[in-house]
Amino acid sequence: MTKPLHIVGGGMAGSEAAWQAAEAGLPVVLHEMRPKVGTFAHQTGNFGEMVCSNSFRSDDDEQNAVGLLHWEMRQAGSLVMASADKHRLPAGGALAVDREAFAQEITDHLRAHPLISVSDEEVTELPSEGQWIFATGPLTSPALAQAIQAETGAESLAFFDAIAPIVHAHSIDMDVAWRQSRYDKGETEDERTAYINCPMTKDQYEAFIDALLAAETTPFREGEAAGYFDGCLPIEVMAERGRETLRFGPMKPIGLTNAHKPDEKAYAVVQLRRDNALGTLYNIVGFQTKMKYGAQKAVFQTIPGLQEAEFARLGGIHRNSFLNSPRLLDGALRLRSRPNIRFAGQVTGVEGYVESASMGLLAGRLAVAEAQGQELPAVPAETAIGALVTHITGGADAKTFQPMNVNFGLFPPLEDVRGGRRGRKERYKGYTDRAKQAWTNWLEQKVKEPA
Ligand SMILES: Cc1cc2nc3c(=O)[nH]c(=O)nc-3n(C[C@H](O)[C@H](O)[C@H](O)COP(=O)(O)OP(=O)(O)OC[C@H]3O[C@@H](n4cnc5c(N)ncnc54)[C@H](O)[C@@H]3O)c2cc1C
Repeated sequence: MTKPLHIVGGGMAGSEAAWQAAEAGLPVVLHEMRPKVGTFAHQTGNFGEMVCSNSFRSDDDEQNAVGLLHWEMRQAGSLVMASADKHRLPAGGALAVDREAFAQEITDHLRAHPLISVSDEEVTELPSEGQWIFATGPLTSPALAQAIQAETGAESLAFFDAIAPIVHAHSIDMDVAWRQSRYDKGETEDERTAYINCPMTKDQYEAFIDALLAAETTPFREGEAAGYFDGCLPIEVMAERGRETLRFGPMKPIGLTNAHKPDEKAYAVVQLRRDNALGTLYNIVGFQTKMKYGAQKAVFQTIPGLQEAEFARLGGIHRNSFLNSPRLLDGALRLRSRPNIRFAGQVTGVEGYVESASMGLLAGRLAVAEAQGQELPAVPAETAIGALVTHITGGADAKTFQPMNVNFGLFPPLEDVRGGRRGRKERYKGYTDRAKQAWTNWLEQKVKEPA
């Protein structure tokens, strides 16, 4: 009988890995500690729970690297992508999902699969027998983190992101705010009006920045003072970096026209994105924060349109555990010191739901080939998945390694294309065309016998 593949963690990466392996005929034991043992961010016992934003970001597979990642995963029969597509919400050019329906869909599929069995125990050791994938995420349980540190020589690091607050839609003043996606992007009216926008004058913006800078924040606990990941900075930290930083970041006013005052250009705009299928909840886009709860309410209620805002969830800080993968993992995501163990997902130092799921997809497929005594050829670095895995397992400098979103900067440069802003559109199309061809070829390739 084929020995089962053990997968630890039923989040984005573990769920996708389990699906890929089981669909290829390999029995899987999926170990997920929730709901018996919780984390501070997860709220259910479901697989594939989204812990913060409900967005998979851009779905543009021609001009955007994460959109390309969506495409590659769909081609590979991804459960995460199929579930996201099924429970998609209008969000302009982005792929936003109804988080509860999405996680339920994944849970139902995994639990119903004849080759998948579920263990609801926390795993606290790195086993020396059998084939394992650890996809325990940014909130890897402390006991397991300790075991990993014991094996790797304390090379797993920790840093903090912050959660954006969620507002009840009914409490937003629509006499001030209006619905519009930036540049009216989207195919349907629903998509073109997916966001709620709150405009600010210069005086209101300046007062808001003053309030942010004065707000009380949650202090770091001892030993927590690792650096933030630049893609997920708390707004008060952005404001500290410069009074204009937010106006050129999440509060940029471009591509938006105030429906109530079309002739008046807003100095800054706060955007809220739909958070559930019912349209009753909206999250404040890019407003991760570590302000104290009381301060958050006071500061956010100075935003025009949110003066009476009721919050379904306030922001908070969170931990992110990730390995020094360039040093610890080989190109097939195996722990160099214990090749029966693979890692996948955010714990490998990729950042984001889709990136994590894509590493699960790859780990699942690699494990299947290995169980069959075969070896998959390396994924071409020209693809989004290949670019990510190449980066984390060697492309990045181990000394300065930080979590990474997928982006075209990770792709091998194209020759004979125009550089700079002017050539951007053509260049991005070149990257995505090349990637699609390479990914299609990789998926069709036969596995090779190990050397
Ligand atoms: C508070 C917070 C907010 C975030 N916000 C965003 C966001 O807005 N957008 C975004 O793209 N990404 C966000 N992230 C990152 C996000 O967590 C990842 O993108 C994604 O969930 C990672 O997928 P994963 O499968 O690696 O980990 P997870 O989805 O976290 O799954 C890991 C699973 O492993 C389980 N587990 C942990 N330890 C053990 C153990 N010892 N035994 C058994 N099971 C275990 C956990 O219960 C969990 O279900 C956020 C992370 C946090 C913590």
